[in-house]
Amino acid sequence: MTLGFDTLQVHAGARPDPATGARQVPIYQTTAYAFRDAEHAAKLFNLEEVGYIYSRLTNPTVAALQERVATLEGGAGAVCCSSGHAAQIMALFPLMAPGRNVVVSTRLYGGSVTQFSQTIKRFGWSAKFVDIDDMDAIANAIDDDTRAVFCESIANPGGHIADLRSVADVAKKAGLPLIVDNTTATPYLCRPIEHGATLVVHSLTKYLTGNGTVTGGAVVDSGTFDWSASDKFPSLSQPEPAYHGLKFHETFGALAFTFHGIAIGLRDLGMTLNPQAAHYTLMGIETLSLRMDRHCANAQKIAEWLEGHEAVAGVTYAGLKSSPYHARMAQVCPKGASGLFTVALKSGYEGCVKFVGALELFSHVANLGDTRSLVIHPASTTHRQLNEDQQRASGASPDVVRISIGIETAEDLIADLDQALAKAG
Ligand code: PLP
Repeated sequence: MTLGFDTLQVHAGARPDPATGARQVPIYQTTAYAFRDAEHAAKLFNLEEVGYIYSRLTNPTVAALQERVATLEGGAGAVCCSSGHAAQIMALFPLMAPGRNVVVSTRLYGGSVTQFSQTIKRFGWSAKFVDIDDMDAIANAIDDDTRAVFCESIANPGGHIADLRSVADVAKKAGLPLIVDNTTATPYLCRPIEHGATLVVHSLTKYLTGNGTVTGGAVVDSGTFDWSASDKFPSLSQPEPAYHGLKFHETFGALAFTFHGIAIGLRDLGMTLNPQAAHYTLMGIETLSLRMDRHCANAQKIAEWLEGHEAVAGVTYAGLKSSPYHARMAQVCPKGASGLFTVALKSGYEGCVKFVGALELFSHVANLGDTRSLVIHPASTTHRQLNEDQQRASGASPDVVRISIGIETAEDLIADLDQALAKAG
């Protein structure tokens, strides 16, 4: 039986607790798990048997969440970790090595631009930034040392929608995996694996948890990439010295990346998601489709209203007919363009600062994807570390404000925006 998304978001990965019958996934607040005997312990440590050893690697509450996220994305497996940024490192770690590079979109969350342009250099990795709409530029940027292509499905903050199928085709032709950050879209609006993505990463912090309580991340593997087809991915295809020469791809097939993420990634990088956080995210995901429908409907109404306002120079919401990405929605995220967009004010940088300060119902915070409506001025906050060219390329020019539309009554949000725009001049 093929179950619908609404059923899977409630049930996938969860079953009544075998020990107690508890219907909701219990929070397994334990660090370690008793071995049956020495042989059982040895088999677990050798990866000859799957089970629980220590919560830095695996935990039943986190495992339920991993199965749910993997199912909703249509993947073979998933590894959860402590944040969206951790997920990006966890996704790259098995692929990269000193001297290797990743080709990434210029239209990314500002923190990701910094992570890729600055911090990964400390590992000897580098990133080449390209216009993700330019297939020739992507193909030309790929060289012998490239190990992945990375983009966001719906980009934060500009709402740009990537042509995932075309980007995946370019990556595939070069024998490389495409990694898609699906945080803004969520698997309810877009399933990148269906468009050819190899890996999907998430900040669980945003819409998946949905209520601003958790910091978490996930890496979902499609299970479809042939890691042994070339000599580019030795961590997955060659003998692993830390496991007596075990070859992850040969041994675990479609689950190679997932097992590597747990057995090497979480074991040695330690970016583990805690079971409390996994519980909150499981709760949040139960209502994902209902919330996303409301986020999209509210964002559509509000973006249309803003577009007609005299103080507004432009709105980037892909749900608007005026958006250059409107046509792409039908192909990539037909149910909606999420709840995130930017609005440019004619009053420029100063007007944006006044506007953000004058809003009352909207919260001025560095977050998105909450039930509450949120607002921020990226150029003076999240995108502050970027130079002006990078800010413009990522959709965060000095004259724009990023708005994350919540699930409140749309008319109340419009009234708040109206009074704040009047004060912004
Ligand atoms: N990806 C996107 C699109 C984001 O918006 C964010 C955070 O804002 C991240 C990744 C990083 O996630 P986290 O804050 O959970 O590390």
